[in-house]
Amino acid sequence: MNILVINCGSSSLKYQLINSDSEAVLAKGLCERIGIDGSRITYQPEGGEKIVKESPMPTHTQAIQLVLEALTDSTTGVIKSLDEVGAVGHRVVHGGEAFTSSTRITEETIAAIEACNDLAPLHNPANLIGIRACQELMPNTPMVAVFDTAFHQTMPEKAYLYGLPYEYYEKYKVRRYGFHGTSHSYVSKRAAEFLGKPYDNLKTIVCHLGNGSSISAVKNGESVDTSMGLTPLEGLVMGTRSGDIDPGVMQFLMHKENMDIDEMLNVLNKKSGVYGMSGVSSDFRDIENAANEGNKRAETALESFVYRVAKYVGAYAAAMGGVDAIAFTAGVGENDKITRKKVCDYLGFLGITIDDEANAKRGEEIVISTPDSKVSVLVIPTNEELAIARETLALV
Ligand code: ADP
Repeated sequence: MNILVINCGSSSLKYQLINSDSEAVLAKGLCERIGIDGSRITYQPEGGEKIVKESPMPTHTQAIQLVLEALTDSTTGVIKSLDEVGAVGHRVVHGGEAFTSSTRITEETIAAIEACNDLAPLHNPANLIGIRACQELMPNTPMVAVFDTAFHQTMPEKAYLYGLPYEYYEKYKVRRYGFHGTSHSYVSKRAAEFLGKPYDNLKTIVCHLGNGSSISAVKNGESVDTSMGLTPLEGLVMGTRSGDIDPGVMQFLMHKENMDIDEMLNVLNKKSGVYGMSGVSSDFRDIENAANEGNKRAETALESFVYRVAKYVGAYAAAMGGVDAIAFTAGVGENDKITRKKVCDYLGFLGITIDDEANAKRGEEIVISTPDSKVSVLVIPTNEELAIARETLALV
């Protein structure tokens, strides 16, 4: 069966058509600037050239219409008709406490996702628009919602409750939810498979280090803690997000800089992290180049990032009463050997030693620790689209 995977944001939409038998990506691409001037679609069939076309997309329905036209195009398309799309898998950011796993999309599911809109006001409404647009164009195709939060719903209360008055949890469900769940689930499972160890009897720490970064503690196949919270702002120092800070900083800065809460949150989400600290870029490659040229702030930003990752790994080893495997994934985790090495340098006390030659490899699943290392350290490239396609197949 061919499964169309849709990741719909407020002004962009990523898609992949995956054959569930071979797990090959038949085509993939991106619609950008939906609802804004200068919108364009990128389409790349398997083994073919990338095609970029400027095309008006006043709404998400038009964007999805263009995706479907590209997939069925008589010369560059990969399917003859939409009948060859067996199901659609939608990434949905926030499933609140309502969704502990992926689910078939029905009117009730849509209402339950809408009920989570308050928890992710920037993401869920956009995800829902993508779902509605697909339903309009493919009314008879089964659809599945795969949630970023669902994998972390196994966290115990002690991990997900904040030290706040309990009534806020009761009234508004204010708690830790965690994100990147599809990636943490996929990578922790692959790590166990790759090591030939039983997933249900393994303590794994997954370091998903990208532009947005999060860490999870996965014990016996279940997420027991994760660094992102009610929103993706908590936890690690990220590309442009601050991660953990003293909430008192907000009041202090809002007074000093005469900012309202929205401006403050914009600073914490978009102007902080290694970008704000270094003043250079949110991209680790740029910051590393700057640091190599002697930029002290760039050097400190990278050191802070690594230090925070190592602190979380230490905390999660304590949370699980030990750790068997640590898996690095996402843009930085998969590609940046220096960051991996520096994180692992902190973890020598756990009996971790790194094989520098293995650590220098890229683009493959690999164990980068030495055979005598007490904890296996791996790089597992994440594949959220494939994970969504698998979940979708399982439910249709
Ligand atoms: P997102 O959170 O947007 O999905 P990704 O997981 O794609 O992010 O990660 C993107 C980030 O990965 C880039 O901003 C960059 O910092 C980092 N990155 C990619 N390639 C490299 C590399 N070779 N070395 C260091 N960092 C890299």
